[in-house]
Order: sequence, then structure tokens, then C-alpha cells
Amino acid sequence: MRSTSPRLYLRLLLAVTLPLCLVTSTLLPVLYMDMETRLDGVRAEAKAILRVGEDTLTRDINETLNYALAIAEMPALQQRLEDRSPVDEAGLSSRAPTQLDDFLNTFIHHTPRYSKLVLIDNEGNEMLRAPQDTGAEPHQGRRNHAHTDYFKSASKLFPRDIYLSPPGRNLQYEQLSGDAIPVVNIATPFFNSQRERKGVVLLSLNWQYLTQSLYQSMQVNPQAGVLLVDALGGWLLTQGLPQLPYLSFGDNYASAAPTPWSELSGTLEGDINLEGSLLHFQTEDIRTKFYNSLAGRIFSTDDTLPWVMGVSLPTPSWQSLLEEETSVLWFLGLIYVIAVAFGVYWAFSSHQQRKLRQHAQQQAAEVRGLYENAPCGYHSLNADGIVIKMNQTELHWLGLKADEVIGQLRYRDVISPDTQDAFDAAFAQVIVGQQGEAECTLLTRHGDQRHVVIQACGYHQRGGFVYSRATVFDLTERKQLEEKLLAQAMTDPLTGVFNRRYLQSQAAIEISRGLRHSTPLSLIAIDIDHFKRINDEYGHDAGDEVLKRFTSVVSGLLRQEDLLCRVGGEEFAILLPNTDISKAEQIAERIRATIDTHEMTIELEGIHQTLHITASFGVTHVALNETSLKAALKRADKSLYEAKENGRNRIVVKDS
Ligand code: GH3
Ligand code: MG
Ligand code: MG
Repeated sequence: MRSTSPRLYLRLLLAVTLPLCLVTSTLLPVLYMDMETRLDGVRAEAKAILRVGEDTLTRDINETLNYALAIAEMPALQQRLEDRSPVDEAGLSSRAPTQLDDFLNTFIHHTPRYSKLVLIDNEGNEMLRAPQDTGAEPHQGRRNHAHTDYFKSASKLFPRDIYLSPPGRNLQYEQLSGDAIPVVNIATPFFNSQRERKGVVLLSLNWQYLTQSLYQSMQVNPQAGVLLVDALGGWLLTQGLPQLPYLSFGDNYASAAPTPWSELSGTLEGDINLEGSLLHFQTEDIRTKFYNSLAGRIFSTDDTLPWVMGVSLPTPSWQSLLEEETSVLWFLGLIYVIAVAFGVYWAFSSHQQRKLRQHAQQQAAEVRGLYENAPCGYHSLNADGIVIKMNQTELHWLGLKADEVIGQLRYRDVISPDTQDAFDAAFAQVIVGQQGEAECTLLTRHGDQRHVVIQACGYHQRGGFVYSRATVFDLTERKQLEEKLLAQAMTDPLTGVFNRRYLQSQAAIEISRGLRHSTPLSLIAIDIDHFKRINDEYGHDAGDEVLKRFTSVVSGLLRQEDLLCRVGGEEFAILLPNTDISKAEQIAERIRATIDTHEMTIELEGIHQTLHITASFGVTHVALNETSLKAALKRADKSLYEAKENGRNRIVVKDS
């Protein structure tokens, strides 16, 4: 657990950061493109606003020029010039107000954008003025314009040529509620019918009105800032820019904003990125620009023209973009949350899978251990009978190593020749898809044999045999046990000689063999004399010991093929194949004499005794017509009884 936790934390960290990186890397180009589109929109909007402003400026000035020209060429003015009425010392007609005065006064009264209209004679004196002075103003009476730029310039112009003064010059002629207001003076010469130069028409355009209409037309977007600067950097508007709100008419924009100014003054049209806003500008030269008017040429003081007109709009900030694109942000946030959820799920599930894999590996190791060390052998053979897999148990039985066996050994070669046929038959069955079983003997490297039963089945694929899977059970111990049990069933447990059952089963074999080979078969019955006394005197254990010693002595006197059997308590029988009755008598006598002379020393707990025992014998033979031992046993018992009767320790022979 200690080693897996950091791995889990690492995966969780990845699950959180990876989606963040992916979502951010997807989001950034989209937002960047959105930002670019918005900037393009701002540029287009600024351009459109600037065009509107330019149209307004052009229209207003154009209109003023046309008015000035119309007044200069008015028939009423011509009539007035022809009028020979005496003039007063100020050069004005002494006549009562004429139609011209009325018209001009009405005109000025109804077009408040013009602060004044003045007709000036060739000496610079006012011939006519609208609105008329109230009489309370300081410049009442004679006013001379001879030294003004507009008079000096317009006096030399040809008909229909116009002089346009920079805004705000000669403010001493402008009064509005006591304050001088900035104006643009438009002046054009006028002539009489004989084409004699008679003076100058001066029309003063209230600059505040013009800038006001500029603002009205350009501030369709309330965030738009308007810029109008003359060629010297003089600020021509009544309000400043949003970035320079303190600017007012007549201030020096060039020194207030030197960096933008250097760009503005050097280029005809362009964009400047100010802090948080975009300034679109273009140069306006009203002298060369086409005006839809009747004007000839337009003159001005060269150093203040052209003007630069511009509009500034705020550029979208990243913050405003994000605030406006909340739906996109919510969507991306949702994607991010889903991605993180999937990532976390992945982290936990792979952690779980890892645990399961470890568990599976552990179990596989356990199964492998069971396979390798099972109490039985396992192996697999290919179609040629070559071993492709074998567990340690079977390798151990064979005394071989895996690399000597796998892919090398033909399994048939470790099977004893006498059981190879059984193996071949079983393997043939496995090949055709049936279960196969064979009892075989394995030949081990150490030279010993192992009796086994092999049970196998085949693994087939698309109808073809691939390999066999066999379980091998070791029968050696079972065989030994079987043999032991069989021996136990046939022998007398106390003395180790055969028992009555074995005598009877073996007798049938020996009788038929004797018959087949015409060989005689004899039988001796033996009973130990006065055996009861031994038990009585020395105890039952001593009696047992005597029985063991007795059989041992008798066995030593017999051939291999003779069968010594214990048929009762201290009663024995000997079946003597290929032995006639006289030979049997000799054997019985040899036994009797040996026992009689044998010193039998009994060494038991608390007993140390040398005994002398004797036995009685009944000898007979098995006749040719006898099919069982029954009759012969009876005869032998009868002889034995006679021997007892006759004093014991003797032999009685009976051949029929
Ligand atoms: P006889 O000479 O007439 O044969 O006398 P006997 O005492 O041998 O005759 P009997 O048949 O009356 O006695 C046999 C005795 O053998 C009786 C029994 O206690 C004893 N006996 C039988 N089987 C065993 C045995 O397995 N162990 C011992 N210790 N005694 C046995
Ligand atoms: Mg007896
Ligand atoms: Mg006896």
C-alpha cells in the first residue's frame, strides 16, 4: 500500500493537470481569434465613425463657404454698393436699415452656428454687421479689420476664392456673453457690377457649434473619443480624449502626447494602439479636398493645415472578453470537470486493476506452485509424443532436469518396453479426442522403476490435435501395499509361513501341475507334542516363541518349492511337489530328528529357558484321482493321530 499510494497521487495529479493543459491549449487559440475578430470590429467601427466625422466637417464647412459666396454675390449687396447715399464718418451708409441688413440679420439670427457676418470695405472698415451691435459692447462704432489675416488675405483673392482662418484667431472680434469664443473666419472678396473690388465678406463659424455637431455625429458609440489637431499640434476641440481629458481648445496636443503625435504627424492615415484603446486617424486638408461648393480656390495659413482627425475606441481586454464569453467559459468549465472526472476515474480504476493484477499474479504463482509440486505428475505432449511441459514432481520421479526434457524427450522412451503398448494405445485415443488411460512403468535415470497410471486428454483446435494434458499417478506404493496385503492374506502373522487358505489355493495348482507332468505330490501333517504344557509352564509368549523357532527350523530343512503352512494352533502341513511318499517320509524323519535333538533356548523378559520339544508326523501322498487336498489332509491327520497314539515323537505313513 505504501508503494502504491504515491503512484495513485501521481495519477490523480495527472488527471487534474492534463485536462487543464488540454482545455487551456484549446481555449487560448479560440479566445485569441475571438480577440482578433473583436479588434477588427473595433478598427472597422473606428473607420466608419471617422468617415461620418469627416462628412460632417466637410458638410459644415462646405455650407459655410457656400453661404459666404452667396452673400458676396447677392443682388441686394450689388444694389447697396451702387447706392450713392452719403456715408457717415465710419463709412457706413446713413440710410435707414435696408432689405440687405434685414436679410443678413435674419440669417445670422436663424443660423446660430455663425457668430457674425461682416461686410468690410477695402480699407478694412465694417460696412455692415450682423448681428448689429447693441451699443453696449466695447467695440461699438468704427471697427477696422485691416490688420487681420482674413482681411489681408481675402483682399487679394480673385472672385470666388476663399480664405479660411485657423480656428480661434482674432478673438477680439468675438463676444458671447462677455467671453471670446473661438471661430473660423471665412472671408471672400466682393466686387461691384463693374468688377471693381469693393471689400470682403467675413462669415465667422462658431467653432463650438462645429465641434458639437462633430461630437454628435461621431459619438454614436458613447465610448468613442474624438481627436482634431492642426498641423502644429494645436488641439482644436472643446473636449479632450478619454486618455487626455484635461485637453481643451488651444492646448498643445503635440507636447501632451508626444509619442502618438510623432506617428500622427508623419502619416496620412493609420491606427495607433494607445493604452487600452485604438486611435484611427487621417489627415484632413480642406484646401485640397474636393468640396461640393461653388468656391474657386481655398487659402489658409499654411502652417496650421492640414488637420488630423481621429477617433479612439476602447480595445477589448482579456478580462472583458472572458466576462462576455461566459457561456463559452461555462461550457469549457463543464468539459474540464468531465475530463477531470474521467481522469480521476481512470486513476482509481487503474489503481484497482493494478491491485487485481497483483492478486492474479499471486494466485497464478500459487497455482503454479500447486502444479509444480502436486503429489502427482503433470505433463503435456505434442503430436509426436515429445514432452512440451512437465511438472517438478514428475521430473523428480524421472531424475531429469527440465531442459533435458522439454522439447527433447519422447515420453515413450521413459516407459518400460512391456508397458509401451498400453501407452501407445492410450495416446492414440487422446490424439483422436478421447480420454486415454494406461498403467505403465516409468524407467528413471537412477535405474529404478515406478509404476504409474497415466490419465490424459487432448487439447484440440479447429478439429486438430495440439497437445495432450496428462496426470500421472504413482502406483508404486499402492502396488507395494497391495503386495503386502496379499502376503498378509496368505501368511500366518506369527510365524511368517503360509496359512491354511494359501495351502488350499496352492494345492489346486500343484495337483494340476503334478497331473500335467506326472510328478508325485506328498503331504506331511505335523503336531507339536504336549504343547499345552509349554504354555502352562512358561506362558503364552514362550509358546509363541517356540512356534516361531519351530517354523524356522523346519523351513531350513525344506526346498524352495516346498510349502510349509500353519494350519492350526501348533499344527503344520508341508506340501511337497515332485516328491513321492518315501521321500516325504525321509523328509519327515529328518525334521522329527532335528527337532528332537534341537536345543531350543527361549530368551524372554524374565525367562531364560532351554527347552526340548518333539513333534508327531502323519505322512501321505496325493493320489492321481484326487482333485483336492481334502482327502490327503484327512489321511495325514489320521496318521498323525496314530503317531500320537503310539507314543508321539514319531512318524506314521499312510499311502491310501
Ligand atoms: P498333544 O501332544 O496331544 O498334541 O498335546 P497338546 O498339549 O499339544 O495338545 P492340545 O491340542 O490339547 O493343545 C494344544 C495347545 O496349543 C492348546 C493351546 O493353548 C495351544 N495353542 C494353540 N495355538 C497357540 C498359539 O498360537 N500360541 C500358543 N502359545 N499356544 C497355542
Ligand atoms: Mg494339536
Ligand atoms: Mg499338540
